[in-house]
Amino acid sequence: MIIVTLERDGCISCGQCWASCPEFFREDPDDGRSAVSERYRIAGKQDEGSAPDRFKECLREAEEACPSEVIRVSPPQPSFD
Ligand code: SF4
Repeated sequence: MIIVTLERDGCISCGQCWASCPEFFREDPDDGRSAVSERYRIAGKQDEGSAPDRFKECLREAEEACPSEVIRVSPPQPSFD
């Protein structure tokens, strides 16, 4: 699993992350900022998510593309299931 954090206060709603990784990020309809998609949220939080390893490339791409540098992607963690 990959842990992703998003500092939503710094998001400028450019759309790069949901273009790069549309299954994981989405635009929040209330404030227009990026948010973690519901199914990947940790404890229901918009700004913290847990992603399967198959998202590794698109998450790295989103992290690098974010002009505000508010996306943090952890290295993949071992899965215990
Ligand atoms: S790439 Fe960064 S600034 Fe752009 S929408 Fe995503 S989190 Fe916000």
